[in-house]
Amino acid sequence: MTTERTFSIIKPDATRRNLTGAVTKLLEEAGLRVVASKRIHLSLRQAEEFYGVHRERPFFNDLVSFMISGPVVVQVLEGDNAVAKNRDVMGATNPANADAGTIRKELAESIEANSVHGSDSLENAATEIAFFFKPDEIVG
Ligand code: ADP
Ligand code: MG
Repeated sequence: MTTERTFSIIKPDATRRNLTGAVTKLLEEAGLRVVASKRIHLSLRQAEEFYGVHRERPFFNDLVSFMISGPVVVQVLEGDNAVAKNRDVMGATNPANADAGTIRKELAESIEANSVHGSDSLENAATEIAFFFKPDEIVG
């Protein structure tokens, strides 16, 4: 077992429906610990930079508009194999394809408004954590 840190965003569809606690409960029940958390409103520039890897995808502009449509909660999650564990509890990108009990199956609205972001590798987790948090804002 390896203790890792990963990065999570509770997206605007979830904050709008007052599901910050419901999402966090499923993360915690999966064995992840919230070691940093803040509620922010992403700027257009931040959203475009954060999702820069998807710039050429047809859904990029809609995704950026959605991500700045309301507040988000950015979090650092810690636990054994936290990157994979978080992806497991998130479920598939499209909630229609997600397994029962996952955040996206239970809570998400659509393939775009799918309630959570989670880092897809340890390397990206480190980059994404540093995008939003200073080291002294993370308390394990
Ligand atoms: P994941 O969030 O599961 O890692 P991706 O990295 O492929 O998924 O996509 C980033 C985000 O872009 C998704 O979480 C979702 O909000 C949005 N998205 C992905 N695919 C589509 C699509 N086909 N149509 C609309 N939005 C999409
Ligand atoms: Mg992704």
